[in-house]
Amino acid sequence: MSTFLGLPTAPPGVGHLRQTEPFPDAARRALGDSQLRRNLGKATSHIRAKRAAVVAELPDWEELRSAGQAIKARTMARLDVYLDQLESAVTARGGDVHWARDATEANAIVTQLVRDAGASEVVKVKSLATDEIGLNDALADAGIAAYETDLAELIVQLGHDRPSHILVPAIHRNRAEIRDIFLREMSDVSPDLTDEPAALAEAARRHLRRKFLSATVGVSGANFAIAETGTLCVVESEGNGRMCLTLPQTLITVMGIEKVIPTWTDLSVFLQLLPRSSTGERMNPYTSMWTGVTPGDGPQAVHLVLLDNGRTAALADPAGRAALHCIRCSACLNVCPVYERTGGHAYGSVYPGPIGAVLSPQLTGVEDNASLPYASSLCGACYDACPVKIDIPSLLVHLRARHVEERRHTHRLPSAEAVTMAAASWVMADAGRFAAAQAGGKAGRLISRRGAISSLPPPLAAWTRARDAPVPPAQTFRQWWARRNGNGP
Ligand code: SF4
Repeated sequence: MSTFLGLPTAPPGVGHLRQTEPFPDAARRALGDSQLRRNLGKATSHIRAKRAAVVAELPDWEELRSAGQAIKARTMARLDVYLDQLESAVTARGGDVHWARDATEANAIVTQLVRDAGASEVVKVKSLATDEIGLNDALADAGIAAYETDLAELIVQLGHDRPSHILVPAIHRNRAEIRDIFLREMSDVSPDLTDEPAALAEAARRHLRRKFLSATVGVSGANFAIAETGTLCVVESEGNGRMCLTLPQTLITVMGIEKVIPTWTDLSVFLQLLPRSSTGERMNPYTSMWTGVTPGDGPQAVHLVLLDNGRTAALADPAGRAALHCIRCSACLNVCPVYERTGGHAYGSVYPGPIGAVLSPQLTGVEDNASLPYASSLCGACYDACPVKIDIPSLLVHLRARHVEERRHTHRLPSAEAVTMAAASWVMADAGRFAAAQAGGKAGRLISRRGAISSLPPPLAAWTRARDAPVPPAQTFRQWWARRNGNGP
């Protein structure tokens, strides 16, 4: 196994990261669901407006973004050093640190820890890292029940569904759908349950309360880990996380290695950026922090599982590694015109939207999520919204280039796109050939209908699978120019 910056380089990730069908096919199906589009449009426009209002309150918002970007870049450049420092600090305060190269190892570590604690059920704080590795399924295979306690994650779990948004996993569901799920899946719910938000939250609260009180193991992710003291941090809105982090005797945290930050001063920057960008709040209602074990207070066995699962491979790409700067606020999803129309399931990965389009292919290897870097119009809205200034459009173009290059090395036959581009290059390299090709515009006008060409013949057919082609103009630029200068017919 090779190493990078002193870290073992993990194989491409497994778990819930790989697409099972290409984005264009999944997106086409999602676009046919008008209820989904209504739910998404309503939810994302609401969050966008809240975010814009609280961001506008800060005169130094751009400076904060630059500071966040700089801290992340500095941390990634010395990630091995900060991870070693974090491990030493957590261990010194009575915690245990485990290293997992991939999803399989991480799941095995957590399963063994739960068994060692003599438990057959765990309560969970909302965690993308555990979604990424498919922890709930792995625990179920080992006979251990995992109960999601975040309201949106609970809706997803009870609905036998998949998350579709980083922050609001059930964003694709409306109130009536949630009431139906609760009535169907919760044995202890009143049959008179309404779809009022307060009634739904109350039903979930009663349902979860018994789990909080009986579970002896809690499982969480972490938003940040502070290397200098070994402190872990979870930010959330509901308080369910605080219950999972404090009531059980054993606490297991699964965290991607990129979540480490050097100091508490650095944390102060992110605690201003994250809530404003995610929920549109000035501050998270609950910010929980813990440092190892405190005798007689909270969990008495504290474990930190540091997860690679493709991250060191992403780190090895000097351009692509910026995707590891992400603080999972989801602002890029909420402003993305593609995400707003297709929703998160079309991306086929735990990480949907613009950040998923640049992160998932790097965690799995570009070939395994090959269609994701193309799932964008490159409008740049994600870059403008990102609190740590990740230039997602440039990353998308970079990954498209990597995909084309890798395909060139792994396929004997060139793709239809490569053939078309080579032909276009040959035509445009010669004035006579270019003029002759332009004469073909007449054929384009002949096959057009109502001002557009909806279906081109191969090898151009792929272009019109997802969009119309414009009708060639009746007059080319050259003809117009010649006429203007008195040389044309
Ligand atoms: S890429 Fe930026 S905007 Fe998108 S989730 Fe990550 S931090 Fe937020």
